[in-house]
Amino acid sequence: MSIAELYQKFKASNGVSTDTRKIDEGVMFFALKGEKFNANTFAQEALNKGASYVVIDEAEYVIDERCILVGDVLYTLQKLANYHRQQLNIPFVGMTGSNGKTTSKELVAAVLSKKYKTYSTKGNYNNHIGVPLTVLGIDDSYEIAVIEMGANHQGEIRDLCTICEPTHGFITNVGKAHLEGFGGVEGVKKGKGELYDFLAKSGGTVFVNNNSESLLTMASQRKFKERIDYLNNDEVKLLQDSPVAVFSVNGVSYDSHLPGAYNFDNIATALAVGKYFGVPAELANQAAAEYNPDNNRSQIVEKGSNSILLDAYNANPSSMSASIQNFINLQTSKKKVVILGDMFELGEEGPAEHRMIGELVAKGNFDLVVLFGELMTNALEFLPNAFYFSDKFSLHNWLIDKQLKDSYVLIKGSRGVSLETVVQFL
Ligand code: ATP
Ligand code: MG
Repeated sequence: MSIAELYQKFKASNGVSTDTRKIDEGVMFFALKGEKFNANTFAQEALNKGASYVVIDEAEYVIDERCILVGDVLYTLQKLANYHRQQLNIPFVGMTGSNGKTTSKELVAAVLSKKYKTYSTKGNYNNHIGVPLTVLGIDDSYEIAVIEMGANHQGEIRDLCTICEPTHGFITNVGKAHLEGFGGVEGVKKGKGELYDFLAKSGGTVFVNNNSESLLTMASQRKFKERIDYLNNDEVKLLQDSPVAVFSVNGVSYDSHLPGAYNFDNIATALAVGKYFGVPAELANQAAAEYNPDNNRSQIVEKGSNSILLDAYNANPSSMSASIQNFINLQTSKKKVVILGDMFELGEEGPAEHRMIGELVAKGNFDLVVLFGELMTNALEFLPNAFYFSDKFSLHNWLIDKQLKDSYVLIKGSRGVSLETVVQFL
């Protein structure tokens, strides 16, 4: 079946699904394969649950005419998404970066929503499956889309751009994240730079944060049809970075709900994109200031006499040091406590990067330092008074005994260590 024919069936369906636990009546089900599963085997179940079509790539699972047999389900999903994208005549703002993608995406979407019906990536659906699903979720009623693209190796952003064809875009930053897959920071620049490559080649518009030397250098290496620089004058300024970023636009100040100078960059990006697309300044500034995360990213949670800076969604050396530096700057009468977990995907740099975090934490003179995970043993060298735990059970029990009060607690670690579990014991 050609993509055009498949597209007719998609248009007649009630959206797509790749998960038999989430099947609405009339959806087109794509039977993807993972390391541990082969959704071809769920074809019957998907039909039973009301799918109008199932797209599969193993002939033995064809049941009736509702089963569409293709060469490769994932490839077909991506092709269909791209076909759909080409029918949508709206700007697509594509974005990637080492840190702050989801936060920036939410901020940009909040700002654009003040003027346009805006579709943005749900949650963290930013990979080779998430991006096509995102694109396929956009119907004709939307006026603009914001697409988060994630990557941990070369070529990924290029492929994601081929699927969603951004007309506009930005890189949040390039730092020490996924060093293993990218092959060091230079590799990260190359990999993230694939978004710049796409925009340069396709005549798109790029937004460049002038606070970042790396991004300025990367942008100067390409020729863009349109390049919008921001944070290159005093229009938008950071007045204060903690406990939350306070920023000003043309002299008027706004309190955000987001901690740290690093989140000011995310806010400035959203304002630059909003300004470009003609969102009235006052509405844009308010939308950025009002954005309040509820996703374990830079979230401030008040619990009894404790304040918790819950940044446990993920961690890598760049975001970890940004968070710790921000916490060092925080002025508070409360006891300062850090609970830090391992940072993953660093390959052989792992031990050294954890030692550097130890060194930075030591400079903070925190009242209490709690470390969790095997790699964090490397940080102990600089933190002789830290409390160390290798398993969650002991960590939780220790926190229950400790009964922290009047404390400001920073929680950060990689997704794999799910440090948000400690919140209930604070
Ligand atoms: P993922 O790779 O998981 O999709 P992401 O790039 O979408 O991550 P966010 O989820 O927005 O990033 O933020 C993750 C963490 O990165 C935040 O909790 C914060 O500590 C840190 N962070 C956010 N913005 C920045 C920034 N501009 N620079 C450095 N670190 C940042
Ligand atoms: Mg994200």
